[in-house]
Amino acid sequence: MKPPLHQPTSLAEACELLDTLEETMVYGGGTAIQILIKQGVLFAGNLVDLSRVPGLAEIEETAEGLRVGPMTTLRRMETSEVVRRRVPLAAQTYGHVANPRVRNTASVGGNIAHGDYRLDPPTALLVLGARVELTSVRGTRTVPIRDFFVDFQVTAVEPGELITALHIPAAPAGNSSTFVKMSSLGENDWPAASVAAQVDAERRTLRLGLGALAHVPRYVEVPLDGGGVDAAVAAATAAVEPELDPIPDVRGSADYKRKLGLVATEDAVRRAWEEAR
Ligand SMILES: Cc1cc2nc3c(=O)[nH]c(=O)nc-3n(C[C@H](O)[C@H](O)[C@H](O)COP(=O)(O)OP(=O)(O)OC[C@H]3O[C@@H](n4cnc5c(N)ncnc54)[C@H](O)[C@@H]3O)c2cc1C
Repeated sequence: MKPPLHQPTSLAEACELLDTLEETMVYGGGTAIQILIKQGVLFAGNLVDLSRVPGLAEIEETAEGLRVGPMTTLRRMETSEVVRRRVPLAAQTYGHVANPRVRNTASVGGNIAHGDYRLDPPTALLVLGARVELTSVRGTRTVPIRDFFVDFQVTAVEPGELITALHIPAAPAGNSSTFVKMSSLGENDWPAASVAAQVDAERRTLRLGLGALAHVPRYVEVPLDGGGVDAAVAAATAAVEPELDPIPDVRGSADYKRKLGLVATEDAVRRAWEEAR
């Protein structure tokens, strides 16, 4: 049976509903929730739909980078001029999620709150050092994305809280980055391995975000010692290897994904390096 859908028209009302109703779940774009309903495995007593709360789908340019409302669609992140200009790695990565139908409906907040270890956008958000703004009747707090994915399908969102913004710093000038996704079942499928990579202008630090390669998205920072791209690849794969703990499934065995993770890491580092030239 479908739980009742509540449609608040202000943020205060949404917070109040999340605080007072039993077993509530925020309804963002609904792409994940609808599947759970169809599968008969949605364990929620009430749904709180954010689509009528004003201001939650806005992208604002800030001194630091961007403040993105949680109801912004993934498609808008992919196509928006300001996202492409300030955080091109994020635009590129959001453009690789599923297919246009999913991207046109799914929201930025719902995407990270979903907490799936295979999600693509967290790889870029980890590299960029994004922060997640969480609001409830108790007030607002901000959690670094690098602390947000706590455990398998467990995030830092606490009962009664909703994501009210994603703060994404723009990469400093001269940095170069890329996103590599490897899927074993089809181009629009979930990844078997995905890696976002960013090299700083001085080529002193390599930042890597790993998707589908452990039970949570993982962040790895690699200091570089001034060598060329081959040395960077060697340092990156050595740093990534101990972080790999993939879950075997229909997309491949753990061993296959481990190897694919290293291939994706090398590919991402070489492409980011090439872009920097
Ligand atoms: C066919 C298909 C293929 C897919 N392939 C990929 C892929 O290749 N890569 C990838 O990254 N993802 C993929 N996805 C997952 C997709 O990215 C997620 O379904 C989507 O991002 C969830 O966003 P939503 O807004 O629809 O969330 P919803 O379904 O609305 O919610 C998902 C979860 O987030 C919570 N939530 C929603 N909004 C908020 C908020 N503001 N604050 C707190 N909690 C909130 C909900 O309570 C729920 O727990 C795929 C999905 C489908 C259906």
